Amino acid sequence: MFVLYTSMDKRDIIIAIDGHSSTGKSTFAKAISKSYGLIYVDTGALYRGVTLVAARNNASNMESRHDIEKLSDILQNVSFEFLKTAPDGSGELHLNGENIEKEIRSLEIAQKVSEVASQPFVRDFVDSILKEYGTKRGVVMDGRDIGTVVFPDADLKIFMTADASIRARRRYNEILAKGGVADYQEVLENVTERDKMDETRETAPLKRAPDAILLDNSNMTQNDQMLWIEKILKEKWGLSPS
Ligand code: C5P
Repeated sequence: MFVLYTSMDKRDIIIAIDGHSSTGKSTFAKAISKSYGLIYVDTGALYRGVTLVAARNNASNMESRHDIEKLSDILQNVSFEFLKTAPDGSGELHLNGENIEKEIRSLEIAQKVSEVASQPFVRDFVDSILKEYGTKRGVVMDGRDIGTVVFPDADLKIFMTADASIRARRRYNEILAKGGVADYQEVLENVTERDKMDETRETAPLKRAPDAILLDNSNMTQNDQMLWIEKILKEKWGLSPS
């Protein structure tokens, strides 16, 4: 049997990570970016940021033509930027210079984001920011449609999933660990509701790209996942952590 090795510079790679809510995509993507010196882009944060803009301007009812037009107008004048302000040096989302990282993680935003993200004008807005990052390459992005819509030619596509109750438990513990208050049942409902909305929306629904590698991390630690990806990157392109 012949094995074809192709070499690749880390700075050229695009890794697309898609999958269900609360599968730890961003934690995984951040760890990969740190290990391999890649730029990390949290695409869900941008959808959450747009949702925050909608909520602050009373324009988050996506069944109302008025709200859609209002939000669409407002988006012409907002700028989002990831700035390295977190203690661990990772990027935090800023809206017109204001750090909104904490606010976009609230349950209120989580409950509204899938509806906002289902709007084609919102997807176009976020996609234009993402494509800009893609031109830089050496990027790892996580989201719902990165390997299918945003970067269908990504070098490596991963589709992450895990049992819904395990995901909800992780999310619940994360909220408590950050000093927040949560109800497990409510978190579980939010996780399953978001999956359903993401999978059934008309524009860019969440689905596994045919060439995406499946990663079910129900019973995996973060360390297990790193060993898993290190093996793939080594075998495919001879890449090692820096
Ligand atoms: O990844 P995160 O949970 O922060 O994403 C928040 C929401 O943004 C998702 O539930 C999904 O509705 C939406 N999203 C999306 N496409 C992406 C990333 C996130 O529709 N690429």
